[in-house]
Amino acid sequence: MSERINVMVPWLGQEEAAAVAETIASGWVAQGPRVARFEEEFAGAMQAAHAVATTSCTTALHLALIVADVRPGDDVVVPSFSFIATTNAVRYVGANPVFADVDPLTGNITGDTVRAALTPNTRAVIGVDQGGVPLDLDDVRAATDPFKIVVVEDAACGAGSTYKGRPVGAGAEIAAWSFHPRKLLTTGEGGMLTTSNPEWAARAKTLREHAMSVSAADRHRSVLPPAEEYTEVGFNFRMTDLQAAVGLVQLGRLPEIVARRRELAARYQEHIAAIDGLRAVDDPEYGTGNYQSFWVEVEDGYPVDREGLLEALAHADVSARRGIMASHRQPPYRELTPAHGLPVTERLTDRTLILPLFHTLTDADQDRVLAVLRDPRAVS
Ligand SMILES: *Cc1c(COP(=O)(O)O)cnc(C)c1O
Repeated sequence: MSERINVMVPWLGQEEAAAVAETIASGWVAQGPRVARFEEEFAGAMQAAHAVATTSCTTALHLALIVADVRPGDDVVVPSFSFIATTNAVRYVGANPVFADVDPLTGNITGDTVRAALTPNTRAVIGVDQGGVPLDLDDVRAATDPFKIVVVEDAACGAGSTYKGRPVGAGAEIAAWSFHPRKLLTTGEGGMLTTSNPEWAARAKTLREHAMSVSAADRHRSVLPPAEEYTEVGFNFRMTDLQAAVGLVQLGRLPEIVARRRELAARYQEHIAAIDGLRAVDDPEYGTGNYQSFWVEVEDGYPVDREGLLEALAHADVSARRGIMASHRQPPYRELTPAHGLPVTERLTDRTLILPLFHTLTDADQDRVLAVLRDPRAVS
């Protein structure tokens, strides 16, 4: 009996455990000095001017749309081809998602697919670095800049990917990141908002903390309690210092994680190129991916279809996943399918699957996966 190969395994070690123990011993476990340091170091690593830690990428996206002044009734262009949180964030602020199709090679929106979805009411666009493949931000901006439309980068999957020689998100006015264990860098749950706009950063920091005029950390430091005010309707989207302690260690591991993932991805790519009817995700010419989701498309001419390949992998005790979802097929958004359809989104959603890829995956494990891909009918 072979051991199960999972799709994703977070890489956590003794250093993370020690950092949490140290935080507990310090007596300060809620948002405090470690969150502040994590924000500072994350901003440095991603070449962002400001960083605001949150409970998740979903809540960071929610805050991003508020500070970018997206209002009820506005239209926001989003890819349907994304985890549903991208679209849900638009609804949280009362705006209307408008779905754009994606490029077949990257799985990301482009200037052209955005242009096809623009309306007179478009206030913002959310562009995703889907599965860690960098978004062509400049191409999208060429479509939106003439209309002063804000581009929010959903970089949930993007830590460690690069765009034109810089970290993804570095060129964005505002970006949102995820530290869920399914992503490269994890804090259990957690997220970050980065922005070049100091006013947006300041408002996001207040909003995540009930829109309190005095932060809990500042209030704690002073002996005479300052009188705080709640300046607008805020949220509790605070990360804990326990999470930030883990995040600081994980951030230090990121270069090593990315290097190993890219090595494993290159090995998959090399072998899959020799298999008729399978196409593997690859780097676009303008950037490098972290291969957060290593997907393959099952084309005509492959011996089995996508479901058949998933079954063959399952028989071999290899966990794989159906590719990125199409949000316009989910109940809350079905009526929003555009008249011209989303043919590339539907093709990728129906024909792709995500293969195991994680830091501690061995070459031998990878060979087991590749053996099934080469001959899916041999497994029963
Ligand atoms: C994972 C993911 C999210 C949600 O991240 P959370 O931190 O779990 O809220 C949003 N957008 C994309 C593209 C994702 O992959």
